Amino acid sequence: MSTNAEAFDRASRVIPGGVSSPVRAFGSVGGTPVFVARAEGALLWDVAGREYVDLVGSWGPAILGHAHPEVVGAVQAAASRGLSFGAPTLAEAELAELVRGRVPLAEKVRFVSTGTEACMTAVRLARGATRRDLVVKFAGCYHGHSDALLAAAGSGVATAGLPGSAGVPAAAAAQTLVLPYNDVKALALAFEQRGHEIAAVITEPAAANMGIVPPEPGFNAALRELTAAHGALLIYDEVLTGFRVSDAGWWGHEGRVVTPDLFTFGKVVGGGMPLAAIGGRADLMDLLAPLGPVYQAGTLSGNPLATAAGIRTLQLANTDVYARVDVAAATLAAEVEAALRVAGVPHRLQRAGSLFSVFWGVEDAVTDYASAQRQDAGAYRAFFHAMLDAGVALPPSAYEAWFLSAVHDETVLARICTALPSAARAAAEALTP
Ligand code: PLP
Repeated sequence: MSTNAEAFDRASRVIPGGVSSPVRAFGSVGGTPVFVARAEGALLWDVAGREYVDLVGSWGPAILGHAHPEVVGAVQAAASRGLSFGAPTLAEAELAELVRGRVPLAEKVRFVSTGTEACMTAVRLARGATRRDLVVKFAGCYHGHSDALLAAAGSGVATAGLPGSAGVPAAAAAQTLVLPYNDVKALALAFEQRGHEIAAVITEPAAANMGIVPPEPGFNAALRELTAAHGALLIYDEVLTGFRVSDAGWWGHEGRVVTPDLFTFGKVVGGGMPLAAIGGRADLMDLLAPLGPVYQAGTLSGNPLATAAGIRTLQLANTDVYARVDVAAATLAAEVEAALRVAGVPHRLQRAGSLFSVFWGVEDAVTDYASAQRQDAGAYRAFFHAMLDAGVALPPSAYEAWFLSAVHDETVLARICTALPSAARAAAEALTP
């Protein structure tokens, strides 16, 4: 047994920053990252044997809770048949059918290993289909770390306060237009000026990587109208919201009225294993190799263990699961707001279905990245550590959603609620005057 500090020290000697993904390093909240030994249901344990209620949920996948016995069983059974074949399996067709069953617009589905790959491929596909180069993304939306999509990205880039990344060629960045989220006028102007060059608009249909910023009524519909009018494609990046905020993601949650050309999925669709997907109109998807000229491939794509986890997770994520996640989120959101009110912490809690986050020290609606960045990160830092000390592991960044699962039941929620009042007081003391 070692302490988190010992683990961090050891890892930092051989891994940059001691982590395999930057936000895990606790850079924006300070302190020593929790090194996880194991997790089960809504709980996790660190290397020192300390127990926490987990509100990160692997950043989204763990909608059924950690290590669901049936998902683990499906993975174990798959593992006993072989870890990877580099050849097609029927399980891939089964998972694609499950995805299409929930989101019929995903007429065909291609599996990859990460959300980054899915979004990168969707953009390449859009460029190949339209024979145009420009891509529009919105500031504060995160679509993974490929060159084309890193500009003004939320998530870890927002957490670290970076404008983007070193190493992205200027020529690549020049092919991405970054516009403010929820700003139809800016998009209309961009199309007026460069519409004939725009291959696609990629969006988080409910933004969840700059804190939660839901689309304003009509925003997503306007994206559809403008893209269609100018021969560009609309890509719904549902890596985070897909199969989490409803059985059919944000697209299902908002009433299935907008018709994107392409979707990207990740997280829940892989049930906690490395699996993501691109789905969309069959005529577009068939432009992918081997049928079409747009190349995409992967040694581990459609991996049998990951596919087994995804299939079992989607089979288990039924109406009852989504209802339980909704109730848990609504209950916790109300308790958090009450605790912050009592402690006198100005705040804005925003929701997108069962996803929510708190903006600290601001009360006006947060509608885009600029307004999200007005929050007081110091207040979150104090709140985060008070919660962690009380055994509740929140996302180590004010720009991330709080992730609940179907097993965050009354007992678990009560544990979180017990920790809230003193954490709210710590946030109040840390507020920038
Ligand atoms: N798209 C969105 C909306 C995401 O939230 C993320 C990751 O958080 C990604 C893409 C990238 O996915 P991955 O981390 O699997 O590469």
